[in-house]
Amino acid sequence: MRVLILGVNGFIGNALTRRILTGTDWEVFGLDVGSDRIEEFLSEKRFRFLEGDISINREWIEYHVKKCDVVLPLVAIATPATYVKNPLSVFELDFEENLRIVKMAAKYGKRVVFPSTSEVYGMCPDKEFDEDRSSLVYGPIAKPRWIYSASKQLLDRVIAAMGTAQGLQYTLFRPFNWYGPHLDNVDAPKEGSSRVLTQFLHNILYGRPIKLVDGGAQRRCFTYIEDGIDGLMTILENPKGKADSQIFNLGNPSADLSIAQLAHALIDAVATYPKFAAAAKKTRIVKVSAKDYYGEGYQDITTRVPSVAKAKRLLGWTPKTDFETGLRKTLDFYLKGRKPPEV
Ligand code: UDP
Repeated sequence: MRVLILGVNGFIGNALTRRILTGTDWEVFGLDVGSDRIEEFLSEKRFRFLEGDISINREWIEYHVKKCDVVLPLVAIATPATYVKNPLSVFELDFEENLRIVKMAAKYGKRVVFPSTSEVYGMCPDKEFDEDRSSLVYGPIAKPRWIYSASKQLLDRVIAAMGTAQGLQYTLFRPFNWYGPHLDNVDAPKEGSSRVLTQFLHNILYGRPIKLVDGGAQRRCFTYIEDGIDGLMTILENPKGKADSQIFNLGNPSADLSIAQLAHALIDAVATYPKFAAAAKKTRIVKVSAKDYYGEGYQDITTRVPSVAKAKRLLGWTPKTDFETGLRKTLDFYLKGRKPPEV
């Protein structure tokens, strides 16, 4: 199989590429603006890479959509700070640019595996979000935070409609707070632009307080990247066509933590690494308002638990990694071989 991954250097793209190159005989064609996470694959025969931008390198993309069997358009802005500060850029990249790619796949009869998001459920009151039954609930237009999930939701709907009207072969997957090695750069202090786990780790390593937005009672289900990749690989293998025209939540309902619990769990776990124990013990936890942290246009989601019944039924997939194990593997990646901070 020939797999086209746009955004191949991203958190999901690089982990998927590693799995494909080590576990299958498939070929990967990848595009990204950066290559720091995929350097080890650049000399690999079954991997071709172009450093480029989906809004610029259109001919390269069209050529490779034609050449490949399946397209994964993974390029997107997925950081809440940007939803609030520059909502139009989120719409342009996450919706407009990706729509072009999806249309191209439809034109050439190629399969699309598209990353929707757990964020599409928004403030849905259901205890567990169901792909085919839960309502998608958003705040007002004056809260631009929702432009990300609204863009993704509309693209989900467009893809599903193209499936019905034009026979587009597709699968949508919804990651629930995936984490693991190569998540974000813990040395890049872009507050609000990194996902919460790497933001907190950055704060510990740089002697800054951990900030709990609005108290940190909001909850997320943290899903270890390799579990997510297991699900994605089964979707790509598509046994008996069971992934076709389906949406799958890929999340770990048993790793449901409040953000405050995450902060404590992380401090305790970092403290078990002797070189970092002093920094962990010194870390303060403070509370900040969402308005101060993200700006006026932010609104949070208080709970987000996936139903994974459909992924189990159709794909035989369940998350296997408990939070403690996943956190340990993530911290080994970030801390082993790293110099201790000056505290
Ligand atoms: N958060 C926080 N402090 C931070 C960064 C994030 O309290 O320094 C909160 C954020 O408000 C959200 C949760 O952590 O409720 C998860 O944030 P993230 O950006 O990782 O992902 P989300 O699930 O919101 O897309």
